[in-house]
Amino acid sequence: MGLLTLGQPLTWNETRKYAEHVREHGIIQFINSYHKLKDRQDEYLKWGDEIEYMLIKFDKKQQRARVCLKAGELLSIMDEREKKEGNSRICLWRPEFGAFMIEGTPGSPYGASDLDLTLLSNFNEVEKNMKIRRQEIEALLSPDEALLCVTSFPRLGCPDFTWPQAQLDPAKSVTGSIFFPDEAIFGGHPRFRTLAQNIRHRRKRRVIINIPIYRDIKTPDPFIEEFNDEEAKEAIKADHVYMDAMGFGMGCCCLQVTFQASNLDEARILYDQLTPLCPIMMALSAASPIQRGYLCDLDCRWSVISQAVDDRTKEELGEEPMKFCKFRINKSRYDSIDSYISADGDKYNDIPLIYDQVYYDKMVKSGVDPLIAKHIAHLFIRDPVTLYREKLDQDDENDMDHFENIQSTNWQTMRFKPPPPSSPGIGWRVEFRPMEVQITEFENAALVVFIVLLTRIILTYRLNLLLPISKVDENMKEAQKRDAVQRCRFWFRKRIITQTSPPEASACLRAASTNDIKNCDEDIIDNDIDESCVLLTIDEIINGKSGMFPGLMPLLRHYLLSVEIDAETHCTINQYLNLISCRASGKYLTPAQWIRKFVQNHSDYKKDSVVSDKINYDLLKTIKKITKGKILCEDLVGDSSYIKDRLLNGDAK
Ligand code: ADP
Ligand code: MG
Ligand code: MG
Ligand code: MG
Ligand code: MG
Repeated sequence: MGLLTLGQPLTWNETRKYAEHVREHGIIQFINSYHKLKDRQDEYLKWGDEIEYMLIKFDKKQQRARVCLKAGELLSIMDEREKKEGNSRICLWRPEFGAFMIEGTPGSPYGASDLDLTLLSNFNEVEKNMKIRRQEIEALLSPDEALLCVTSFPRLGCPDFTWPQAQLDPAKSVTGSIFFPDEAIFGGHPRFRTLAQNIRHRRKRRVIINIPIYRDIKTPDPFIEEFNDEEAKEAIKADHVYMDAMGFGMGCCCLQVTFQASNLDEARILYDQLTPLCPIMMALSAASPIQRGYLCDLDCRWSVISQAVDDRTKEELGEEPMKFCKFRINKSRYDSIDSYISADGDKYNDIPLIYDQVYYDKMVKSGVDPLIAKHIAHLFIRDPVTLYREKLDQDDENDMDHFENIQSTNWQTMRFKPPPPSSPGIGWRVEFRPMEVQITEFENAALVVFIVLLTRIILTYRLNLLLPISKVDENMKEAQKRDAVQRCRFWFRKRIITQTSPPEASACLRAASTNDIKNCDEDIIDNDIDESCVLLTIDEIINGKSGMFPGLMPLLRHYLLSVEIDAETHCTINQYLNLISCRASGKYLTPAQWIRKFVQNHSDYKKDSVVSDKINYDLLKTIKKITKGKILCEDLVGDSSYIKDRLLNGDAK
């Protein structure tokens, strides 16, 4: 759990004075814990998912759906339960940025020793646990409320979008927003409002979010909104939907997975090898085509959230000459990673990394691995944006709060998580963070299990998926575009078997790509970076392209043949892999494609990109029915008898 310490938050003016203090001690804390824990070995693979949910209030009379600001109420009940039941909790609940959001995880991580096949039987628990999670909250809701997995609330920031109603107060609110009231920010913990306020004060203006609008036949051309507000007038862009508060991005829900590696080196490998999969999995999970009541030309939340927490000053952005700031910074605090950290990864680090030389030198001098030191020194170019008076002085031998302060406000596609010194049971972990939440537990579980299985083939077959990191960034931009799964191509490695791969890996590759023996067999080792990647569609990356690339799915399926699994688990895994495979091929829609189609086919839609209250209501009502197994959405999951049996009336089973 990031940094969620209670205390009295400092204003930006106070926080900035302590920025150097926080960083210096954060680095010392990292160095101390690194040396204590660098040789730590963990026998068990442990892993767990995090789902962020949205609370919705339906108003049948007015035919409106609003976000329901009752996370605080629910969390105090859940906190009580956690205190009473402790370790026997089946799920855990945590606050998120929105007062209409709540994050749920399994009560304890899934896990098993690597050789132990019970690892795979855990896979049957994932979807069940997700269902229990939802039902635990649902039991506390009234019939006109729902807990849904929607990545972005379509009419977030539109007039009267919250329940209870909240008044906008741009002059006094923490964000200064003309759309998003403070009441919609979770208030049960000072972290969230402080973050919003300090980010705005640091940049000396409101955040600016502009997302290209989806141009339909009746969309005004050019599309330019008028606002009676000076900052808005300056910030808007033609043909873009404008937003002005942290709550737009941080008010989106995502799906994350954390893995424990057996040691530091394995964590570095996983961090790097999963990086090229971030844009691919983001596109496959795309679920957020609507912002502030308009259909947009992007299908994912990433760009919204990246702009929503961008605390860079004009100097750091390169818009003004450098006077006070230390660095020009090329990315938001919320963005894709800038460097690989494993030994094999270094040669693919081709974008200039901005990092603090002094901290880097200090870490390296103490014996921290240079690539890890660079990564940390890169995170530490940022200022702390929340700080509590009670936490200023810490015991650098045993505390990690100053380190966590900077680490937990660098929101990147991957996160490298050192073991917390205070929890001896937890090892070196990496977190996979790009995915959007899916409507059903079935889909969420499928994505989670797919990623867990990929980590197994990456490690077992010692695959190399690395691309120059600049190409991963190019892929990130493509991945967010409308219908990226169908319309875009992505850089990917042609040859993923390495010199160190075991013989069964090439055998598997041969079996997985019958037409592909020449390309992948004779010259499977590849050292030329520029020659190593090609542009492929997501279908080709997942399902393979004959003569070019074997496909991740055939490799996975082959791997599964070599593992003993009980029939039930086997069946579950097969259904999950089938979903991913069909989504990649376009046979099934992504949630984003399905939502867009729903809007465009709605009788109230005027082909002008506007998602009205009535459309919003019907969309969310339909999502609720799908979630609860009242209807089956064939576009999303197919209509096989197995799927019907599994998903329809699921809640009654
Ligand atoms: P954060 O919000 O900082 O990413 P959370 O504590 O909310 O972290 O969730 C992290 C996820 O990691 C949860 O799914 C949890 O079950 C899982 N997890 C907990 N302990 C471990 C561990 N030792 N190894 C791997 N995953 C773990
Ligand atoms: Mg969490
Ligand atoms: Mg978190
Ligand atoms: Mg979260
Ligand atoms: Mg997380």
